[in-house]
Amino acid sequence: MANSFTLTIIKPDAVAAGHIGNILQMICQAGFRIVAMKMVHMSESEAGRFYAVHRERPFYRDLVRFMSSGPVVAAIIDAENAVERFRQLIGATNPEQAAEGTVRRLYGTSVERNAVHGSDSDANAVTEAAFFFSELERFTY
Ligand code: GDP
Repeated sequence: MANSFTLTIIKPDAVAAGHIGNILQMICQAGFRIVAMKMVHMSESEAGRFYAVHRERPFYRDLVRFMSSGPVVAAIIDAENAVERFRQLIGATNPEQAAEGTVRRLYGTSVERNAVHGSDSDANAVTEAAFFFSELERFTY
């Protein structure tokens, strides 16, 4: 059975541009429930650990620098089939290729500065949720 949750991050570009409220509203209106949330400013080493799966990719260093460039909002959000549904809500990695009305299309400005993160698999959602939150910080309804 698919996870009932995924991990999202409102990235430094969207936080700096003042889009936290609008993005959270889109998430809630799409039927997700926020079960954990915090604002953090990751160090380069923390961002590097979060994106360790991308270590070999050419944009890894830039990505780590960007993700540690300012505060982010991390959240665990709940819905049936959460990983897939959230990927649909945020749209393609490159905002120019993201569908109309998706979060990245609305608030992303480049393939790197694409406003939000969403876990790409159930297994990664579990790992990423545990990276930011302890069991005590996760609410159950
Ligand atoms: P996602 O699952 O849609 O977030 O995409 P990926 O897992 O492929 O990439 C992770 C993150 O790295 C993306 O969300 C972007 O912020 C960044 N990224 C992806 N592709 C590129 C690229 O070609 N150049 C740069 N600078 N950043 C990229």
